[in-house]
Amino acid sequence: MARLPTPPSRLGLVVVQPLRGKRCARCRRGPLSLLVLEEGVPRCLVCADLGHLVFLPRGDTALTRRSREESVLSAVVVRFNRRKSRYERQGLLVEEAALARAEARCLADAEARRRRRARDARRRAAQDVRFAQAFTAEILRSFPRCPPDRAADIAA
Ligand SMILES: [Zn+2]
Repeated sequence: MARLPTPPSRLGLVVVQPLRGKRCARCRRGPLSLLVLEEGVPRCLVCADLGHLVFLPRGDTALTRRSREESVLSAVVVRFNRRKSRYERQGLLVEEAALARAEARCLADAEARRRRRARDARRRAAQDVRFAQAFTAEILRSFPRCPPDRAADIAA
């Protein structure tokens, strides 16, 4: 069995998505979609004591950062890119409860943003009303014979 290239150690705890199915060197489970390399030897997540972690694909930066913060144990998931001859990040393995907490924090943020947008829209609407009132007054001052309704329509 060809040995897999060793992922860079700067990534910390690393889990590999193998390009071809490998079996766990300890329990023979396989083919494995995710494995840990211990001195070049593949181990399944259960044998590596990571079986309780869930996969979070890359892409959502805030969710990834928060999941990592919330999770006592996390691992970077990488896959080897043969063409570029290097490992590329695919996502993160984190504790399920940590992912749930991170998702809740992101949702709370989205809700806060939604409320801020609604507040801004109300403020802009109020500004529009004040501007229309001032404009109406200006029309009536310049054209005293203009009916007030007509002036308000023009201002609006
Ligand atoms: Zn195993």
